[in-house]
Amino acid sequence: MPHIWCAGCGIGSAVGCFIRAIDRTGLNADKMALVSGIGCSGRAAGYVRLDSFHTTHGRAIPFATGLKLANPELNVVVFSGEGDLASIGGNHLIHAARRNIDMTVICINNFNYGMTGGQLGPTTPLDARSATSPYGNYEPPFNLPRLVAAAGATFVARWTVFHLRQLERCIAEALVKPGFSFVEVIAHCPTAYGRLNKQGQGVDGLRYYKEKSVVRNGADPSEADIGMSGPILVGKFIDIERPTFWNNYMQVSNKAQKK
Ligand code: SF4
Repeated sequence: MPHIWCAGCGIGSAVGCFIRAIDRTGLNADKMALVSGIGCSGRAAGYVRLDSFHTTHGRAIPFATGLKLANPELNVVVFSGEGDLASIGGNHLIHAARRNIDMTVICINNFNYGMTGGQLGPTTPLDARSATSPYGNYEPPFNLPRLVAAAGATFVARWTVFHLRQLERCIAEALVKPGFSFVEVIAHCPTAYGRLNKQGQGVDGLRYYKEKSVVRNGADPSEADIGMSGPILVGKFIDIERPTFWNNYMQVSNKAQKK
């Protein structure tokens, strides 16, 4: 299928895992909605045969929240990049986790705003070069698993696009888990971030993830910071139970109707 992604980009592999994960769960695709924001990853919404919505910058999560509350039977998935979800949409991300909105967020983290030329983003590692930090980044980046876990997410995991089988299984698990599930996917962007940081082509990115990844299921997300030269902690970090926003809302609604 023709698509906009550059040769060697990691996003397509993540979309493939998502599609195979739907098959793995056996979920009814007619009861699923995919919401994305703006950026290279946000284009995923245009390439799937689901009810899909390509929304405005940073607003995929509030759009998805509206869908879920209007039709609680829908399985709602947000697929977007770290710049969209954690910077421009950062407030929505933490509050959806805090409220435990029942949705799955698949966040492609390629450490920069690739679509607009490789600017510094919320997860760009210290010392990394970007179009807006040509001498190296001096802003501490977000550790996304730690951020969403601290905000209250009930399922938090990270894999890279080298770990396709694990990623597919992980997304399948997240899709059926009630509550706010967050799957971070580390993906290479050879055209912008990779070029500026001399990281080579797509295959070099995969080799790097193979060498630098450390699998530790159950690890404390506070240990999952990512620096310029690794390591990259991957695995399922958090899997807990907590009432969802809808459970709490219905409890109060029932109480109010008995009065
Ligand atoms: S600019 Fe980067 S993230 Fe965007 S499609 Fe190209 S390689 Fe992928």
